[in-house]
Amino acid sequence: MAGSMNPASFQALSQDAQKEALHDYMIETTGPKVERSCGDGRKALNGSIFIKNFGGSLGAATVSFVSRWIHGEQVTYGDAVEEALAKLKTKFDLGGHRDNGSDDSDTSSGCGYADNRTAIVNRIATTEGFDGVINSVFANAIHDGNRSQWESVLGAYQAIAGKQAQPFTPNGEQLITSLEKKDSTILMLDGAHEEYAIVFNEKPNTTLDTNRLVEDGGSAFCVDIWDAMAQTDHLGINSEEARLIYMAEWVATALVLVVDKGKPLPPIFFYN
Ligand SMILES: [Zn+2]
Repeated sequence: MAGSMNPASFQALSQDAQKEALHDYMIETTGPKVERSCGDGRKALNGSIFIKNFGGSLGAATVSFVSRWIHGEQVTYGDAVEEALAKLKTKFDLGGHRDNGSDDSDTSSGCGYADNRTAIVNRIATTEGFDGVINSVFANAIHDGNRSQWESVLGAYQAIAGKQAQPFTPNGEQLITSLEKKDSTILMLDGAHEEYAIVFNEKPNTTLDTNRLVEDGGSAFCVDIWDAMAQTDHLGINSEEARLIYMAEWVATALVLVVDKGKPLPPIFFYN
């Protein structure tokens, strides 16, 4: 219903009621016209339904990049993304987005994940106790059983952080242009960021219908973990390693795009 999910109505609900209200916006992704794009909560101008990961296809490509560093390959971000996208394309439709406020920029694409690669890497590399921050979002994600694997993830980010000057890390405009050249779906997202929740969705073949949520006055980030993991499986990355890298990326993205801009971290909901 138009307006029924506006921020004031949503924030008046208990956390359980918020979780339930957003759950009404979960939809099946098995239809014929489903794209892949970003976890950005804004509405697609063409009304496309899309499966979500921060950065669209750049999300899995970034995991591949970090994994290669963990295993001793000091590849540039640009080269690693190109190679990962070529492999992803053999099984998955590629996708990303721009927004209708970024048309005239040489460096900014409109995708916060693509535009803030350097800041996101630095956040992971330099935040004191970042494992504790991850565990506050994903309960007990980093524990004694995977501590050494986590240390190797963190070590890779710390090594990468010192290398990021261009051309090592392309800017957002270059990253989205590169996706466009690969026949990807690049959605145009509309309006300002007003996300008041983050959804992490593990239920296969479903996503949050962010278009309908925006029409009803609301907005939430969403990551479809089931699809993100399927993509890194296809890239041949160990699933525990991929999950650790993804969690670092997702939490750091929220910190850079929300908390570092002076807003509180919104409530986080898990669906499975
Ligand atoms: Zn984006």
